[in-house]
Amino acid sequence: MIVAFLNQKGGVGKTTLALHLAGAWTRQGRRVTLIDADPQGSSLDWSEQRVREGLPRLFGVVGLARDTLHREAPELARTVDHVVIDGPPRVAGLMRSALLAADLVVIPATPSPFDGWASAEMLRLVEEARVFRPELRARFLLNRCGARTIIARETAETLADHDPPLLATRIGQRVAYADAAQTGRLVFEIDEAGPAAREIAALAVEIGRLAP
Ligand code: ADP
Ligand code: MG
Repeated sequence: MIVAFLNQKGGVGKTTLALHLAGAWTRQGRRVTLIDADPQGSSLDWSEQRVREGLPRLFGVVGLARDTLHREAPELARTVDHVVIDGPPRVAGLMRSALLAADLVVIPATPSPFDGWASAEMLRLVEEARVFRPELRARFLLNRCGARTIIARETAETLADHDPPLLATRIGQRVAYADAAQTGRLVFEIDEAGPAAREIAALAVEIGRLAP
């Protein structure tokens, strides 16, 4: 399965969640390649940071921030079980290419009604891709949910009957994610049984069930 984390908005968690999904699947014994489709190369930076810290390799990270992604990703997918794409912000050509490559698009969004989670532009691009790929699946994913869940609940209610639908798994606002990003780690390498590790495991199971 090729899963792409896409949202034109930056800072919603595309990189964080792509790395963690790839890591969770790796822990389940799957072979995974992560494609960094963001010209900023945050996933590549993370993987270089791991090497500097002397941490073991979990999965391959390939930089492919170009419009030929939709032709190259299926090639890469042939040699592994899953490909995870960490998407670009606001680069229309790259975004389209990622949409054509993906079996499933996950749109991370933060639980604020003002945050443009349902960015009209993003939804239009998904609809456009479905002209060529009617089987393309898309899901929203709430990230950075606070302990005060009222806004999250309101957002979830707003999204309840929405297309694309919302994944049941929510990701909390947790220091562990920021720590992980800075140290080239994943949350389960910081606290194997902590809440972050548990929600990522749940996310991997839920997304795994959406495999075509
Ligand atoms: P994007 O790739 O969409 O731009 P990132 O994954 O880089 O977003 O996340 C932006 C920033 O927010 C990063 O510093 C990251 O560590 C932090 N972050 C993302 N998700 C969470 C979370 N659930 N809890 C805490 N910090 C988070
Ligand atoms: Mg990013």
